[in-house]
Amino acid sequence: MEGTLTARDKVGVQDFVLLDAHTSEAAFVDNLRKRFKENLIYTYIGTLLVSVNPYQELGIYTVSQMELYQGVNFFELPPHVYALADNAYRMMCSELNNHFILISGESGAGKTEASKKILQYYAVTCPMTESLQVARDRLLLSNPVLEAFGNAKTLRNDNSSRFGKYMDIQFDLQGIPVGGHIISYLIEKSRVVYQNQGERNFHIFYQLLAGGEADHLASLGLERDPQLYKYLSQGHCAKESSLNDKNEWKTVSNAFSVIDFTEADLENLFGIIASVLHLGNICFQEDDQGCATVPDTHEIKWIAKVICPLTPDLSAYARDAMAKAVYGRTFTWLVNKINCSLVNKDDTKKTVIGLLDIYGFEVFDKNGFEQFCINYCNEKLQQLLIERTLKAEQAEYEMEGIEWEPIQYFNNKIICDLVEERHKGIISILDEECIRPGPATDVSFLEKLEDRVGRHAHFQTRKLAGPKGQKRIGWSEFQLLHYAGEVTYCTKGFLEKNNDLLYRHLKEVLCRSDNSILRECFLVAELESRRRPPTVGTQFKNSLSSLLEILISKEPSYIRCIKPNATKEPSKFDDFLIRHQIKYLGLMEHLRVRRAGFAYRRKYEHFLQRYKSLCPDTWPHWHGPPGEGVERLVTYIGYGPEEYKLGKTKIFIRFPRTLFATEDAFEFS
Ligand code: ADP
Ligand code: MG
Repeated sequence: MEGTLTARDKVGVQDFVLLDAHTSEAAFVDNLRKRFKENLIYTYIGTLLVSVNPYQELGIYTVSQMELYQGVNFFELPPHVYALADNAYRMMCSELNNHFILISGESGAGKTEASKKILQYYAVTCPMTESLQVARDRLLLSNPVLEAFGNAKTLRNDNSSRFGKYMDIQFDLQGIPVGGHIISYLIEKSRVVYQNQGERNFHIFYQLLAGGEADHLASLGLERDPQLYKYLSQGHCAKESSLNDKNEWKTVSNAFSVIDFTEADLENLFGIIASVLHLGNICFQEDDQGCATVPDTHEIKWIAKVICPLTPDLSAYARDAMAKAVYGRTFTWLVNKINCSLVNKDDTKKTVIGLLDIYGFEVFDKNGFEQFCINYCNEKLQQLLIERTLKAEQAEYEMEGIEWEPIQYFNNKIICDLVEERHKGIISILDEECIRPGPATDVSFLEKLEDRVGRHAHFQTRKLAGPKGQKRIGWSEFQLLHYAGEVTYCTKGFLEKNNDLLYRHLKEVLCRSDNSILRECFLVAELESRRRPPTVGTQFKNSLSSLLEILISKEPSYIRCIKPNATKEPSKFDDFLIRHQIKYLGLMEHLRVRRAGFAYRRKYEHFLQRYKSLCPDTWPHWHGPPGEGVERLVTYIGYGPEEYKLGKTKIFIRFPRTLFATEDAFEFS
């Protein structure tokens, strides 16, 4: 269906490509601000969608809005996440190929909300049969469950996703959503045992305590008050008024029943959640031999017996390591379990739209192993963008025989290699330090880095830095020059986090647990295996490389989310913060590339079919070659020579405004 056109919004420009030729960053910010002040949070750069978090309900996600965007050509309505979702869907249906939508931005910028809006859009607008409603509901309800276990309140975001998520939505050939598959990345396990001031543990703990039935809690040995649990109260905001844990518990419980969890699953799952809380409350004291004893054994009876000749410090360390391992693996189990319920078993052909909601580039005052992994992930995704947009663009122009100025761009492959190259990259060097015999420390790791990659153009340490760097890099730090800017990493904790070891006898206990989820998570085979499990860095590298493989074969769409201020306030537009993000998100560069190329292209046949009524030569039918028909048509309606080019099979239009004008003419014809 060709939708009805409504007036386009007239605030600023709705596509940055329409700004003056040599757009400055200031002009870019101006346009964004103008629109934001009018609650127009979406703007395009060509087909990329820029979104600024409004921090308020705007009423733009209603069913009637969805219907407005359904089946309407991109660029014909004001920018919207629905337009992007609809475009991907229609291309998938007509060309029967696979797509993905990459959503990036810093914490609190609106990535997860955007991915939910897209999922809801498909749930409402896609065709549906009665028998497939369950599949749709499960897709929708996997979200609250994963958010309960994987999201937490942080200083940046009250509902911050603490894991990366890739979700395939599968469609049958009628375009009906029939199933899905989720992959999670790097759940932040350290949060289970420690939270910064003003932050919380994962939502599920608080939800269970607030919403669980009294006898359920009693059977788990739990009290309702979260302050009683060490793992829940370190951030001093266990009772957060802005979060309604009790209501969320209802939502999550209901979701569990729809996605097919059995009573036994739930009993085991919440048994684990409770035992993590009990574990956290175990304290250790020193006995005469300097060994740890547990003065209060009340908690112990709720978990397993933990007796070992360790010092109290080491015992506390082992306790926390166990809690993290248990939670981390239970999360993975949960994702697998959800996948079992989303799987579509019939083997007819399907196409997919993948949604990638993943941590954006992070630069804090102190950056550790986590930021290193996250920023490496962003380098890889930038690589993908370069491969898919810049290279693909050039290739298409060549194939179509279109002349154009090749534009220079920075290829960040050199940084990806610095991090991931086998035997040579930073991850390999870190792994070597983790397995070599003898005392390895964060300092010896840094020395090895200096030795092996010290002369790399994108790497610096204080020792090796020129006078400029010396002021800013500390003795235990190294600096990477990422595509998005410099980041200084402190090596403290790199070895330990990369190793992520759990005492063997604790693993043994877990392997023999009565809890069947734990037995699935901690396999005896792992104990018996002589091979060392891959390190966290290497696992992450491998999972990123499979992700890239998944993405590279699909057609991309991009959403870049921007956070307008650090205080979660509506209508506040913080220029400084926004400039930073424009830089990290590579938006100016993207605009430059977009501008150098052509904003819009369409096969001759399709172009002619839509606009043939605008020219007497092509109306009602054009019998010659389609390329010639298009040439007649655009000459007749007055396209200037700089506005378009004709390729072998397609017309390339440089500016969206040209197409808008044609659309307007069409509308009034
Ligand atoms: P991210 O996933 O990027 O960390 P979220 O998507 O969780 O960020 O968004 C953080 C918060 O910002 C949400 O909980 C919500 O309150 C608000 N928010 C984000 N996007 C929108 C939107 N489109 N409309 C209204 N509020 C939004
Ligand atoms: Mg999120």
